[in-house]
Amino acid sequence: MKPDQLLRPAPAGLYCPAGDFYIDPVRPVARALITHGHADHARAGHGAVLATRETLDIMAIRYGEDFCGTMQAAALGERIDLSGVAVSFHPAGHVLGSAQIAVEKSGLTIVASGDYKRGTDPTCAPYEPVPCDVFITEATFGLPVFHHPDPKAEIGKLLTSLRQFPERTHLVGAYSLGKAQRVIRLLRDCGHDAPIHIHGSLARLCDYYVGRGIDLGELRPATLEKSSPADFRGAVVVGPPSAFADRWARRFNEPLVAFASGWMMVRQRAKQGGVELPLVISDHCDWPELTATIRELAPSEVWVTHGREEALVRWCELTGIPARPLHLVGYEDEGD
Ligand SMILES: [Zn+2]
Repeated sequence: MKPDQLLRPAPAGLYCPAGDFYIDPVRPVARALITHGHADHARAGHGAVLATRETLDIMAIRYGEDFCGTMQAAALGERIDLSGVAVSFHPAGHVLGSAQIAVEKSGLTIVASGDYKRGTDPTCAPYEPVPCDVFITEATFGLPVFHHPDPKAEIGKLLTSLRQFPERTHLVGAYSLGKAQRVIRLLRDCGHDAPIHIHGSLARLCDYYVGRGIDLGELRPATLEKSSPADFRGAVVVGPPSAFADRWARRFNEPLVAFASGWMMVRQRAKQGGVELPLVISDHCDWPELTATIRELAPSEVWVTHGREEALVRWCELTGIPARPLHLVGYEDEGD
């Protein structure tokens, strides 16, 4: 069997004709396998959805309980038969519940990794290498210029700023699924014990993480209705980046805007966003992690989904591994 017969790019996403399912489809389909809960991968309106328990729960939190027709939870490592195609889910280390999906038929294995990273993250299970013939990788930070620093060193910059500017409210922009909880957990691991204030839109996902055993310490709502801006002096307020553009943010005491994202490596992006304190914390692989993963797996072929495909495809070819870009559309790095 040729890899293309097992899995191929289609307008709705990666499609498996033998099993009649899609992986992370970008439009409603009859059967979807979902790698993780970020909005560009997990969409509402499918018939049947197969995903990890956490991803299903996260989708229900974001879209409501009736986000699909029927759902099935896949345990990590469990082999599930879909019309003669064996599928299994394996940790991707990206956000809580994130999984790579291995698709196997007639001795051929393709692994669709979704989004993944190799760095330590106490808020989710670590990436697990899955031997395969074809490895499908993202390339969000697929350029040699991308090297992500140690996330604890980045949090150290935030703690230094808190000491330097004890009057100012430190607003930390972080995407609501994954990044926000990771930033809070990192602050705790770096010794920040004070209550952390969260924007209302983060509350349910933070509660869910806590319910799954991830201790986030004391969290308080960042509402100004019942308190005065002075109450937030020297406090950390975490919220989605979009919230910091609106009036809500300007009511805090001399707000200092930080933003936790892999894109903060690009100085221009930080400047344009009015970010005073860029924190380079990413939930994706940087270039060394991407290339080390491909070397480690040594697949016979690499397919590159979204991001900066060309450089990674070129690198694979120079390394002697056939590679091609899939040109899938509709993935926008919600959780970079
Ligand atoms: Zn993602």
